[in-house]
Amino acid sequence: MEARDYLDYISNEIHRTIVATVDDDGLPVTAAIDMMDSDENGLYFLTAKGKGFYDRLKKREFLALTAMKGEDTMSSVAVSIRGKVRELGYDKIPELFEKNPYMRKIYPTEESMQALTVFQIYEGSGEWFDLSKKPIERDSFSFGGAAKKAEGYFITDTCIGCGSCAAVCPQHCIVQDEMPFAIEQEHCLHCGNCMTACPVGAVERR
Ligand code: SF4
Ligand code: SF4
Repeated sequence: MEARDYLDYISNEIHRTIVATVDDDGLPVTAAIDMMDSDENGLYFLTAKGKGFYDRLKKREFLALTAMKGEDTMSSVAVSIRGKVRELGYDKIPELFEKNPYMRKIYPTEESMQALTVFQIYEGSGEWFDLSKKPIERDSFSFGGAAKKAEGYFITDTCIGCGSCAAVCPQHCIVQDEMPFAIEQEHCLHCGNCMTACPVGAVERR
């Protein structure tokens, strides 16, 4: 999937996310926030200007979020994003209310809606993690010009093909057909077992 697909999945399929911001003491604060729309330019959500959440967004202009969907751990898909936010103001509020009519139950009048403002996550990078697949599926993505983060483990040319890494890999995602052995990144848990097991230090962490 492309970055846009992941953003659409968050707003349309999961919708309710847990967002982390940082307070004046440098400590994390979480809040449940609905992602109300998405497009090629990012994700959109709203908040009231009287909330501490609003102040934290204005001060740092940055957040991290996780959205999860599933009945239990083994049927869950999780998408996480870290990114820059900016306030767009009131103009997009009517559009977001039209797309999310339940908001009328919380802010039923035009007057009460005046407290609200829209934020856009316009640049960021993210991780997709699907535990419902066997083996698991993982992907990373970025949007708005942010660099894609290279994370995880890889096997270097010093591999001697001993197989110790494959023997301890919980996802059986180490390909042993060629030298050096290779990790199927899209199925890797990032557990680090392969690096610990390698007798010659051929596994490195990005
Ligand atoms: S980090 Fe874990 S899951 Fe990934 S290849 Fe190594 S042992 Fe397998
Ligand atoms: S444990 Fe190290 S040397 Fe052995 S196959 Fe794996 S990467 Fe290669």
